[in-house]
Amino acid sequence: MTKITPQPGIMDIALYKSGEAVIPGRTEVLKLSANESPYGPSDRAKEAFARSAATLHRYPCTDHADLRAAIAEVHGLDPERIICGVGSDEVLQFVAQAYAGAGDEVIHTEHGFAMYPILAHAVGATAVCVPERDRRVDVEAILAACTARTRIVFIANPGNPTGTLLSGTELARLADGIPGGAILVLDGAYTEFAEGHDGGAALVSARENVIMTRTFSKAYGLGGLRIGWGYAPGAIIGVLNRIRQPFNLSSTQLVTAEVAMRDQAWLAKVVADTIRNRSWLIEALRKTGVAADDSHANFVLARFGSEQEAADCDAALRGEGILVRRVAGYGFPDALRITVGDESACRRVVHAIGQFKGVR
Ligand code: PMP
Repeated sequence: MTKITPQPGIMDIALYKSGEAVIPGRTEVLKLSANESPYGPSDRAKEAFARSAATLHRYPCTDHADLRAAIAEVHGLDPERIICGVGSDEVLQFVAQAYAGAGDEVIHTEHGFAMYPILAHAVGATAVCVPERDRRVDVEAILAACTARTRIVFIANPGNPTGTLLSGTELARLADGIPGGAILVLDGAYTEFAEGHDGGAALVSARENVIMTRTFSKAYGLGGLRIGWGYAPGAIIGVLNRIRQPFNLSSTQLVTAEVAMRDQAWLAKVVADTIRNRSWLIEALRKTGVAADDSHANFVLARFGSEQEAADCDAALRGEGILVRRVAGYGFPDALRITVGDESACRRVVHAIGQFKGVR
């Protein structure tokens, strides 16, 4: 029998590892490991989700017109330049499929999102990892790493797990400096938590080579439903839509996301509470002797003195039923990424870390 083999390179892809959701032997877990919203979606979004049961026998809308209109109205964008996907992951995948292939290079950064090299490898392209500087994306290092074969530059802004943010000026420098024919992808999964930042929307409007991706998984509290979107120049949207499956989003996803987007009062409350809790968490962590940078996202990178100390603290937290994320795979063996939970969650995790550090 002839052996059935996958495309070259597929077996070299490291499987994406999401954080665990359970602690063996524990029924109650405080999950602060996946940057999920402790507040969940708005009541209106939940009602829309329930109402969608009435139309489940119908195929969903293929062009996502109502959802795109809601996103466009709220953000002041052109609905024709919006594309929606199964999480922002799918939009990122469309970009890789449409614009990179064998012989091409896809740039991602040292502490960037694990999906970027996976997407590059999946389309047969070469993933080029560029170092960051002091836990920040290094624009000049990226520009220096670009070659004539560079097709895509992926950066998360704010970064995960660093929580750091590039300024509009730095993003423009990047967009203007990458080679012609290459695309800059600004992954804005956490943009809502970066006060006063537009995720790069203005840059997309002003350039031909920039795409912004966004998600309902974080601030909108809809990680379980899988909805994301991208904003790109019209020519790129026309390309991405050619490879998008016509029914990639279900009617339930579409209607729930539309209502969630229109409920900006809920979003504003979630964001305000998260930002307040984030400031408290960072200050309180520092008081326990843990190093924590300011963060522009809904998580904090807590850095310990050594890999061993981070591992021991992780174990101590698990012992208390608290799940945070080890981020060795993102270049931080000595750190833990802690999602900003609600007030009591923040107090609980700080109390447990304080006890571990012997300061409580
Ligand atoms: N980008 C970054 C930086 C992320 O952290 C995540 C979620 N882990 C995503 C994209 C994907 O999010 P989703 O597919 O849920 O929109």
